[in-house]
Amino acid sequence: MHIQNLSDLGRAMKSLACVGITMALDTPQGKRGVRCREMVVAGGRTRCCSQHEEWPQDTLTRALAPDFVLLRVNINPKWIEKLQESGVEVMERDPNRAVEISRSHVDLAQFYGVSPAEYLANMPSSGIAVFGKDGVKHVSAMSLISELLNNGFSITRPYVERKSWERMAVLVVPFKKNHQSDASAFIFVLSNLLKGSWEFAHIYANPPQLKKNEDDQKTMTFRITHTVNLAHRNAEGVATCKIVYNHGLWDYVEA
Ligand SMILES: [Zn+2]
Repeated sequence: MHIQNLSDLGRAMKSLACVGITMALDTPQGKRGVRCREMVVAGGRTRCCSQHEEWPQDTLTRALAPDFVLLRVNINPKWIEKLQESGVEVMERDPNRAVEISRSHVDLAQFYGVSPAEYLANMPSSGIAVFGKDGVKHVSAMSLISELLNNGFSITRPYVERKSWERMAVLVVPFKKNHQSDASAFIFVLSNLLKGSWEFAHIYANPPQLKKNEDDQKTMTFRITHTVNLAHRNAEGVATCKIVYNHGLWDYVEA
């Protein structure tokens, strides 16, 4: 790659996962697959890796928008209490759950014929880290809520996931596509929590998972979940960039 000046260098630092998909399956919901794991420099013509770049544009299957976005926010004991007071349920995490989760990631990766990625020690992942292993730093997530709501998502039932052996917990906010709900009271609380700058943001795009349709419990659908993880809030801090949903392909821009 040719770096001509400093602003190019700035852009060169920003890399995102290729938007093509590998291992596409024909499903009743159309072609679904795993987002390509190659990291590319953002701002390119197609935002594809060299292999996907050569595909004719009309046959290239792009990574699909998620049906679910799980926003996972690290919270301290003060916020656990505050959220509990506003009616958010606190759930104790089963210590064996981590083993189950990593097993299901390995199975899913095998199903799509890819090797599970390792972003954290001993935690295999079937998805990919859209912003790479290190994620994005000094991030504002304030505009993300309205962006998801404007894209047809609604908040279902948020909860706090607590591990009895840890001081911090995680607020899990599920955003579901094509779902109607009024979460305005909760959104007010969430907006207060999201204020400031987040030291780290990681987004994982997971492959489609065959799951029971929640509404009728009979049909199975290939459901795609993306996870947005926010950690270490600096309430007074100034964020340098913000996360953008970008039709489920994700991006980050200057704040
Ligand atoms: Zn690719």
